[in-house]
Amino acid sequence: MLTLEHVAAPAAQADRRPHAVVIGSGFGGLAAAVRLGARGYRVTVVEKLDAPGGRALVHRQDGFTFDAGPTVITAPFLFEELWALCGRRLAADVELRPVTPFYRVVFDDGERFDYSGDAAAMRAEVARIAPGDVDGYERFLAMSERIFKVGFEALGDQPFDRWTDMARVAPDLIRLEGYRTVWSLACKHVSDPRLRVILTFQSLLVGGNPFATTSVYCLIAFLERRWGVHFPVGGTGSLVRGLVGLIEGQGGVVRCRAGVAQILVDEGRASGVRLENGTTIAADIVVSNADSAWTYKHLLGAEHRRRWTDARIERARYSMSLFVWYFGTRRRYDELAHHTILLGPRYRELLGDIFDKKVLADDFSLYLHRPTATDPALAPPGCDAFYVLSPVPHLQSGTDWSEVGEHYRQAIAARLEERLLPGLGEAVVTSRLLTPQDFQDRLSSFRGAAFGLEPVLTQSAWFRPHNRSEEVEGLYLVGAGTHPGAGLPGVLSSARVLDSVVPHADQLLRRPA
Ligand SMILES: Cc1cc2nc3c(=O)[nH]c(=O)nc-3n(C[C@H](O)[C@H](O)[C@H](O)COP(=O)(O)OP(=O)(O)OC[C@H]3O[C@@H](n4cnc5c(N)ncnc54)[C@H](O)[C@@H]3O)c2cc1C
Repeated sequence: MLTLEHVAAPAAQADRRPHAVVIGSGFGGLAAAVRLGARGYRVTVVEKLDAPGGRALVHRQDGFTFDAGPTVITAPFLFEELWALCGRRLAADVELRPVTPFYRVVFDDGERFDYSGDAAAMRAEVARIAPGDVDGYERFLAMSERIFKVGFEALGDQPFDRWTDMARVAPDLIRLEGYRTVWSLACKHVSDPRLRVILTFQSLLVGGNPFATTSVYCLIAFLERRWGVHFPVGGTGSLVRGLVGLIEGQGGVVRCRAGVAQILVDEGRASGVRLENGTTIAADIVVSNADSAWTYKHLLGAEHRRRWTDARIERARYSMSLFVWYFGTRRRYDELAHHTILLGPRYRELLGDIFDKKVLADDFSLYLHRPTATDPALAPPGCDAFYVLSPVPHLQSGTDWSEVGEHYRQAIAARLEERLLPGLGEAVVTSRLLTPQDFQDRLSSFRGAAFGLEPVLTQSAWFRPHNRSEEVEGLYLVGAGTHPGAGLPGVLSSARVLDSVVPHADQLLRRPA
């Protein structure tokens, strides 16, 4: 397991490269570090937790390996690009195994749908449950490709730090019906209620309510179809370890248990950070991968902020949170797919409770992850590792998770035992929980939101906290709470934006002192 400081830093005094400090070691922060290292910076990543990865932290417990967060790996080319920047090949360090089906969707009435990247198999599945919607499904997919080409390829790594950038893309957004929600676009093309759910739940994987999030997120369907869904051998943690290895290979350092208390500003320019233990680290540029709302509210003094004031941060809309139960079983459930979506009796109404009313409902829809379907080494022989997650409201619900957490877990366990995992109660040998309170207390996420600012049109692109801070020079933001948004493709793209807004280290070297 990776802990604490990983390598001895090259003697900083002898190293004349400009210094970049990256706050946080989530995928956005690690990708930013690699890109800055490739552009001539000496990089120090400072992470408050005792291991890197952020939401992708790894828990090892009783012989089981649990990836805490992301498990659906799409857009492998974004990882390959980071390895290539270091003159290496991703495949030499991490094996990405394709997962089929991408998801098995199980409806409340028992109906199942295998969602995959195989065009013929998908047509057959759609024809089986919604024979009248096959053509509509194909049209939806073609639309998804058109949105991908603009929303991801042309705009995903653009800075959006001038309002004119927004004006420039407005015609494309209108042409692609970006003013619609994900749900509305699916409804335009298909009429079967179950197929509509199948084509819209993916936006939840990046914290977006399909009934409120812009239809730009329909690009996920094409992204998955074109590049597939993968799982890394050894778990998502292998990608984290691989990225840390790249940073170290560039002469950078990842320091854990090094929480930042304050971003230092000198004459309107970020000049370094002060750690919680009082140590200061000077820097030529500072990149924050911490939650954007948290960065502005807690790390950058109010006197330096004009746009992201405390009042504006309070007023903004935040994504849902998650309740996650990680557990290991003494037996295997070989008939279960790697990713199962177990839907409850309500869809729109449940999401309304979570996102709008912010009440914890009695029913739930669950995502069950069984990594041992793809890599059995993540559990002892004959055992299965799992996590199940339930979307829940963020902390504005007022739920006391220390009080209701165990009761909620038992309700989920009972449903899993009834629907998917017979004999579960007897089979569980290890267990741990992650609640919205942990998102706030451990990961410093404002309101305990699992995906930062909610990805609605009025909080996207220019309207989101910019990658090049609007507040002070020399401060940059990467990760889920900045442009383009949450999910691994989003946060890796946010690091890509740095290539256009951060000066090359050589330019800083030439700057007069
Ligand atoms: C349970 C779960 C499942 C998910 N599943 C998927 C999936 O299957 N596929 C997918 O693409 N996405 C998935 N996501 C979303 C994806 O994981 C996140 O959007 C992404 O990992 C966030 O990365 P990030 O760069 O924003 O950083 P984060 O992972 O949020 O990391 C930020 C880091 O900053 C650190 N930090 C905060 N404050 C400070 C400070 N003051 N000083 C120092 N360090 C600090 C934190 O400790 C943390 O390590 C999932 C998320 C969750 C929670």
